[in-house]
Amino acid sequence: MHLQSSTPRVPLGWRIQGRTMVWDGAGITPCYYCGRPATCDEHVVPRVLVYMLPPGERPDFGVDTVPACKECNTGLAASVQDSLAARKAAAKQWLCRRYKKLLDMPAWSEDEIAELDDGWLRDYVCRSVVARAEVRRMLAW
Ligand SMILES: [Zn+2]
Repeated sequence: MHLQSSTPRVPLGWRIQGRTMVWDGAGITPCYYCGRPATCDEHVVPRVLVYMLPPGERPDFGVDTVPACKECNTGLAASVQDSLAARKAAAKQWLCRRYKKLLDMPAWSEDEIAELDDGWLRDYVCRSVVARAEVRRMLAW
């Protein structure tokens, strides 16, 4: 891994304030990685690495934290990437593995769902269709 100080490309709606990525858009602050509401600050260079390496050897992404949801924060854990873009890609790969069954689920048309009897199977299919749409939104963020 090539360690260097870098200024991250700042996506639309975000700005850097100090060493933190800040949401400048409307509404609730989204998770930097998936777009769901952020609930914590994610350390882009895992804290364990910051404590282990001398200052000159630490990766520097230009920011120390980004707003994130707990799920992305947990999924990234202490993994290390060489840029913020690579970290976002790693978060999405983790989400793809976590939601593989939903993403691989066959497509159901409204007519097919309507043909199902009222009951647990129809409920399960309806919940799964909604959940898969949410996962796809997260991956497209
Ligand atoms: Zn997230």
